[in-house]
Amino acid sequence: MAESEARFDPFKDYGSVEAKVYSSPHKYVQKKGLIKDFGTFLKGLEAEKAGIIGEKFLLDIHGEAIVSSLKDKAGVDARMLNFGGESSWQEVTNIVEDVKKDSIDFLVGFGGGKTIDTAKAAGYKLRIPVVIAPTLASNDAPCSALSVIYSAEGEFEEYFFFPDNPYIVLVDTAVVGTAPERFVVSGMGDAMATYYEADACNRAPHGRNMVGGRPTMCGLAIGVLCKDVLYEYGPQAAKDAAKKEVTDAVEKIIECNTLLSGLGFESGGLGAAHAIHNGMTITPKTHHAIHGEKVAFALVAQLVMEDNREEALRVSKFNKEVGLPYKLSELHLEASDTETLELIAKRSLEPGESIYNMPFTVTPQMVVDGMIGADELGISLD
Ligand SMILES: [Zn+2]
Repeated sequence: MAESEARFDPFKDYGSVEAKVYSSPHKYVQKKGLIKDFGTFLKGLEAEKAGIIGEKFLLDIHGEAIVSSLKDKAGVDARMLNFGGESSWQEVTNIVEDVKKDSIDFLVGFGGGKTIDTAKAAGYKLRIPVVIAPTLASNDAPCSALSVIYSAEGEFEEYFFFPDNPYIVLVDTAVVGTAPERFVVSGMGDAMATYYEADACNRAPHGRNMVGGRPTMCGLAIGVLCKDVLYEYGPQAAKDAAKKEVTDAVEKIIECNTLLSGLGFESGGLGAAHAIHNGMTITPKTHHAIHGEKVAFALVAQLVMEDNREEALRVSKFNKEVGLPYKLSELHLEASDTETLELIAKRSLEPGESIYNMPFTVTPQMVVDGMIGADELGISLD
């Protein structure tokens, strides 16, 4: 189901101004055990009723604690709204229709990337504030002013942009840090791409960040910090997360995956890695892999395309060390299956894709060669 109203388009609306643009939520709060203090940070909304969007199993575990915190600390009533599992237009419409029947005046998106993207899109459609409380550090969806919309079958459909970021992002590291470690690790794959994509976007004179502007120094510096912290603390955090220990390394990586990656990709800009990721979603073969896992491999393909062998090798080694895909076979793809690789390449070059932020013209063959080159690099590490 497509949505029809006139779209906010930062690339048209802000792009014509030719300005450097930086965008972020009003506040970001991170703490172990934060759920019981959610309400403390929501007083400024002066709202009366919250709609808490989440998957049923998560609301069964944490819903009551959130409702109590909102009531006790901010005097806000709350109602739970079940999320169906896919960030699709149908799901957004379901939430919008449900909220319209009630007097809900802000939304809380509590869950993984797809729940968050649905909450942000529904909040914008309803023109009410959105509070984001991620339960996974697997992606950089919490902070940004856009939602990724998928078909009901899970294929990438489009980026849906809105003028403002979420009101506030609340991260309880006791929840995020004790989720299966695969999620913290895949978030590292997404976060690692931040610097390399922003750097490519900045080098291209025509490159635009995700808020329709040129990258600011701040957007780029966030990407550099994100990469440096990942290389230094990522391997330790992966080990700690496997033991469900929320250590200093895990806290740092949660901030990387959620805040630095979120601000960095939005204000720094994307490049080929995310476009190749979007291409990969076209084949059901990769549907077992989550966002950051596909981005991790796609980043190496981008660096091979850039002929930056040194950094391609560095990222590939990092991927192997922390448990991210570093070979095509881990994404259930093969170098000999050129038909599928060409399909992915074609999809990654659709109009509007961030691959056009690269500082050179990209052809489908270059994307195929990039993926095969990244695979060879990974195999050489075995
Ligand atoms: Zn991403």
